[in-house]
Amino acid sequence: RAARAFRDHPSLSKVLVVCTVSGGGLAAFSDSKPFQIAHADAGQGDCKKKKVVVLGTGWATTSFLKNLNNPNYDVQVVSPRNYFAFTPLLPSVTNGTVEARSIVEPIRTIVRKKPYVKFEEAECYKIDEKAKKVYCRSSQDTNLAGQEEFTLDYDILVVAIGARPNTFNTPGVEEHAHFLKEVEDAQKLRRSVIDCFERASLPSVSEEEKKKILHFVVVGGGPTGVEFAAEIHDFATEDIAKLYPTVKDFVQITLLEAGDHILNMFDKRITAFAEEKFQRDGINVKTGSMVVKLSDTGISTKERTTGEVSTIPYGMVLWSTGIGTRPVIMNFMKQIGQANRRVLATDEWLRVENCDNVYALGDCATINQRKVMADISAIFRKADKNDTGKLNLKEFHEVMGDICERYPQVDIYLKKNKMKSIADLLKKAQDPNSQSIEIDIEKFKKALAEVDSQMKNLPATAQVAAQQGEYLAKCFNRMEQCEMFPEGPLRMRGEGRHRFHPFRYRHLGQFAPLGGEQTAAELYDWVFYGYSSQWLWYSVYASKLISWRTRVLVVSDWIRRFIFGRDSSRI
Ligand code: FAD
Repeated sequence: RAARAFRDHPSLSKVLVVCTVSGGGLAAFSDSKPFQIAHADAGQGDCKKKKVVVLGTGWATTSFLKNLNNPNYDVQVVSPRNYFAFTPLLPSVTNGTVEARSIVEPIRTIVRKKPYVKFEEAECYKIDEKAKKVYCRSSQDTNLAGQEEFTLDYDILVVAIGARPNTFNTPGVEEHAHFLKEVEDAQKLRRSVIDCFERASLPSVSEEEKKKILHFVVVGGGPTGVEFAAEIHDFATEDIAKLYPTVKDFVQITLLEAGDHILNMFDKRITAFAEEKFQRDGINVKTGSMVVKLSDTGISTKERTTGEVSTIPYGMVLWSTGIGTRPVIMNFMKQIGQANRRVLATDEWLRVENCDNVYALGDCATINQRKVMADISAIFRKADKNDTGKLNLKEFHEVMGDICERYPQVDIYLKKNKMKSIADLLKKAQDPNSQSIEIDIEKFKKALAEVDSQMKNLPATAQVAAQQGEYLAKCFNRMEQCEMFPEGPLRMRGEGRHRFHPFRYRHLGQFAPLGGEQTAAELYDWVFYGYSSQWLWYSVYASKLISWRTRVLVVSDWIRRFIFGRDSSRI
């Protein structure tokens, strides 16, 4: 009642109303936090708080924690890494353009103003969905090396543990290749690159050996592989040429890609520009070339068209061919009947399918968009049977429900592709006042088949993960208000059957740095490449860094590199 009085009479807003509620707690209402529950008795109060266990400290969870603003949750974060890493700048760390510490922020600093968030440096090795427990052990990378074990109970579980590099079980990759996923990987790569130059400079090393040692091979023509190849080329031409003049001419960079082109997720103009630029720079791009084996002496590839297998010697290999599932997620998927999937399937509210109160976001999950097509197909199978070209609206409503709201991608795709009439039809079908709808089933089916082929999973990017984290935090911030006041403020009632709007991804664009102060950028429908986009890249990435501290450090690293060049000490 007090809360309602508050809402209805804003003049009361400076008064603090404190009243007892059943269970011995206290409900406090002030102007800033009108619906917050404050607990008089810590023990009892804590019982009322929902326990939220959050797994991971990556893009998804950091964005979730930054945006979470609800002390009525008891939040426990578990991750083997006690910091957040700004992954888009990892390739810059591999050659010393940026220092590793400049791109990380301790998680305890991020949540220091949120006493209801606690952090445990540990890894979760098992999730028990039935018992609502997670099993954890101290991080393998610390001096405790997995010796300390504990379990945590949860009311709500947020899983955002990302992914691991995918080797596709290619023999020798685990043993001989480098990966670029974590800060440690970037630091190891940096040391290995310098090692190669130092080894090649030894007087006892033959020319043949020098060539081999300084052959850098990148497997995978995605943005990470391309950026690493560009970084190493810049390092070799801008710094190595001065520091290791005797070996500079032996440097060779090869980029192997199994598909027809590098950067195939970008606009064709960008792909062409990147391939031409790499050719000009002397980076050997081999497309249609699949790596079948890696040994300590050579990398074996099979040509896709001819099937010919050949082996080339190398000094260092970076494996960057995409991401795979972490064992703990595989085990969890088996428990919940998702064993045949690659990542956790969620609905558009990021709730894991077949689970209660478990949310998954970021690289370890995907929104199961394909389900909508199955739903729609079911309607059309029915419509096909009666062969009238008219659909029974009741049936249509039953299956479609809030389809346009749930699956904005369908709506957006139809509009974008000038199929507005169909999008309108979907909307009309949702209108409870419509009596019947008449459609050209063949045309509609064709359009939907096209939508189906276009509906891809959201990309595994920081952009998606961060937006999902922010979305989930906003839902959590408002969850309690919705439960306490179901009739509640208009803005929260929303439409359709659900309390919150589903997650909607806004694609803001993507960059591919190509070296030599040139970057390719795709922003909305515009494509840029060249020197001017590099400045855009600098400004966007500087602005996206998580804190002022990291921003200052990264910008000063860039300036240092411009003035003094990259640091080649092997530390
Ligand atoms: P992550 O950020 O990977 O975080 C996972 C977290 O889970 C980590 O803290 C990890 O320590 C923790 N964890 C792991 N195992 C466990 C466990 N068992 N228990 C508890 N915690 C665990 N995306 C872009 O949009 N733009 C870019 O320019 C871009 N560049 C990239 C460059 C590189 C080199 C890489 C590797 C990735 C890049 N990405 C980029 C992709 C982006 O980094 C990922 O999509 C993003 O990190 C996914 O966020 P996440 O929160 O799902 O996982």
